[in-house]
Amino acid sequence: MSLPIPRPGIMEIAPYVPGESGAPGFATPAKLSSNESALGPSPKAMEAYRALAADLHRYPDGSASALRKALGTHYGLDPDRLVCGAGSDELIGLLVRAYAGPGDEVLFSQHGFLMYRLASLACGATPLTAPEKDLRADVDAILARVTPRTKIVFLANPNNPTGTFLPSSEVKRLHEALPPHVVFVIDAAYAEYVVRNDYSPGVELVDHPRANAVMLRTFSKIHGLAGLRLGWGYFPAGIADVINRSRGPFNVGAPSLAAGIAALADVAHTDRARAHNDVWRPWLEKELAALGLGITPSVGNFILMRFAKGPAQSKAAEAFVKGKGVILRAVGAYGLADCLRVTVGTEAECRQTVAALGEFLKAHG
Ligand SMILES: *Cc1c(COP(=O)(O)O)cnc(C)c1O
Repeated sequence: MSLPIPRPGIMEIAPYVPGESGAPGFATPAKLSSNESALGPSPKAMEAYRALAADLHRYPDGSASALRKALGTHYGLDPDRLVCGAGSDELIGLLVRAYAGPGDEVLFSQHGFLMYRLASLACGATPLTAPEKDLRADVDAILARVTPRTKIVFLANPNNPTGTFLPSSEVKRLHEALPPHVVFVIDAAYAEYVVRNDYSPGVELVDHPRANAVMLRTFSKIHGLAGLRLGWGYFPAGIADVINRSRGPFNVGAPSLAAGIAALADVAHTDRARAHNDVWRPWLEKELAALGLGITPSVGNFILMRFAKGPAQSKAAEAFVKGKGVILRAVGAYGLADCLRVTVGTEAECRQTVAALGEFLKAHG
């Protein structure tokens, strides 16, 4: 008997393992494993979401025109070159499927976001990585690995799970040195958290006449709408056309579109989320470093911590703090088995995390 077999590449995919969400014995654990917003969604976004309930029999606006118009106004971008997706994950998948296939290479940095690998394998393309320096993408190492078969270069800026970023001058240098046939994807999922003069989410590169750079954004992080699956991208006209042809006609649900518009308009809520992060990320970095953990300075809403005694100690710490109701993210799949990632939570969650890790290191340091 012969069974159906999938295309080559599919069975090489180790399914994405989301951040854990439960800790036995704790009804409401400190879930700091998925970089969700400490402040939750905007009350106005919740209201817009609820208001959609009576219209759930209607198909959504397949062109997301109201949200694209709102994004265009908010960011000063041409709505015709914006495309919305069910999370930026969907847009990552659509880009890879449209531009790469068997025999093609998709390139990203060593500890780059895992979805780039998964999406590449899913369409039979070959994912390749370039080594990083001090847990930061290395432009020269990426350029050295570009071949005639390279179809896409992904750069998460800032990167998850390292929390590091490349200054705009370096991103520009990378863009300029890439062959024009390569799609350069700047994944700026955490852009709203970055408060640095030398950072740019990449709009100016998308507008460059070479027309091969794209910028991806999401409502999952600072806007606190991860559960709704809503992302967007800013594209050169030609690439927007390709993504619009290949996406599902109703790829974003109506409640997501409505909540997204309300979240974008609630600037005060976004500002509060950023201000919270500006206080508690440095606090966490300082406290965790004081415990003896190796901290990589982050510009996002999460921190990577390294355990001096390696993977076994990191694994033990993850289990120990879970027993105290704190859920951290193991990052072995990123080649960082000696590290854990923690999301900046509420004040109480941050304090709980430091106390639990302190207790662990006292007993097992
Ligand atoms: C969280 C994240 C995303 C996006 O996720 P969606 O929820 O699919 O929008 C994209 N890139 C990076 C680097 C992320 O950390």
